[in-house]
Amino acid sequence: MQIKVLLNEDEIPRQWYNLAPDLPTPLPPPLGPDGKPITPDMLAPVFPMNLIEQEVSAERWIDIPEEILEILYRWRPTPLHRAVALEKYLGTPAKIYYKNESVSPPGSHKPNTAVAQVWYNKQFGIEKLTTETGAGQWGSALSFACALLGLECKVFMVRISFDQKPFRKIMMETWGGKCVPSPSNETETGRRILAEQPDTPGSLGIAISEAIEEAVSDPTGKTRYSLGSVLNHVMLHQTIIGLETKKQLEKIGEKKVDVIIGCAGGGSNFAGLAFPFVYDKIHGAEIDIIPVEPASCPTMTKAPYVYDFGDTAEMTPLMPMHSLGHAFIPPPIHAGGLRYHGIAPLVSGAINDGLISPRALHQLESYEAAVTFARTEGIIVAPETSHAVAAAIQEAKKAKEEGKEKVILFNLSGHGLMDLSGYAKYFDGELQDYALPDEVLKKFLKSIEGLPKP
Ligand SMILES: *Cc1c(COP(=O)(O)O)cnc(C)c1O
Repeated sequence: MQIKVLLNEDEIPRQWYNLAPDLPTPLPPPLGPDGKPITPDMLAPVFPMNLIEQEVSAERWIDIPEEILEILYRWRPTPLHRAVALEKYLGTPAKIYYKNESVSPPGSHKPNTAVAQVWYNKQFGIEKLTTETGAGQWGSALSFACALLGLECKVFMVRISFDQKPFRKIMMETWGGKCVPSPSNETETGRRILAEQPDTPGSLGIAISEAIEEAVSDPTGKTRYSLGSVLNHVMLHQTIIGLETKKQLEKIGEKKVDVIIGCAGGGSNFAGLAFPFVYDKIHGAEIDIIPVEPASCPTMTKAPYVYDFGDTAEMTPLMPMHSLGHAFIPPPIHAGGLRYHGIAPLVSGAINDGLISPRALHQLESYEAAVTFARTEGIIVAPETSHAVAAAIQEAKKAKEEGKEKVILFNLSGHGLMDLSGYAKYFDGELQDYALPDEVLKKFLKSIEGLPKP
């Protein structure tokens, strides 16, 4: 029996897929501080123009430059595995497939966009990139890409993760990146927040504000900011995952997928796997497409669809998205990459158009699933990824109850070898489930009162 499908380098997709022109309801534009749609040049201090063009592109297919492919070849195409041991353990008639994005050198899907973003910045003459990182995956992916392409990299890492996950910082430094805990003393925003709340665990929203501030205040104009998720061009770069998967499913003889699952923080690994299949769904295919989030940060399942800032200090444009409010300070759950207050506008649009069905899961069920996966398939997944594994197991059990031979596909977005402290806490019984209470959500949503509505 074939249990994994590999592709050769020459079978890699040569174009990315852009969902924007295919969404039944076109996305509302991002807005500036005056409530009017922003123009591309307003973004120019933050991003290089070639990426801004991708951000607003209405083209369905965008060519992947050859030099980017040459770097991606180091670990792509990634394998598609069939989880036969997990299927057997569950006694399910379903077939479970996973796309293994953990095989990249930094250990997740994030280098797919990091390499592309660094390359476009370099083309534009940029010499330094700033960014934020939650669990440290994005900071290490960007440091890795900057090392390969010769750019400087500065990473603001959410304080709680900086303290909990020291090895990610060492990875960044090994690739030549500079990593500081956020809030830091190195920006106005960081100093202000530290003065108000010296013990804050930090948040992605705060770290984004700091990274943007550092980029736009460089007097040489050679620094830009890079975001690892949420934006349209990031979703675009990640679609190589789903496009490869389509070829692999065809190779192994699967004509139809029934369920597609990805965990969702900002939405990029989910979108990367799912969007090429959302295209099929728009054109009549019957597929359940499920982004999974933690119940403690229920952006897709509980938060309203609003215009909100991408960061705490209100420096970004207003984006149309489901949001817990930019003042959101997440509870310290272990899936650091799933704690962002918003979700990609393209993912929000797909939810609103009824193309995808979000689900929220608790961390204990997710860790239990991750341990089951490690003891059957052998891979220790990232705490973020555990949410996708748990949903895949739920679906496989459902298929068993219904006696249906479904095909279930999920994205193994990253390995958890740098996040073992979360596993340790799980084994020691120190983790609890936490559903965000409605009163707390209401409080955070105050930060978006008075903003325009999409
Ligand atoms: C960053 C990260 C996520 C969450 O980010 P998305 O943009 O939603 O994909 C999920 N899994 C892993 C392994 C990550 O590193």
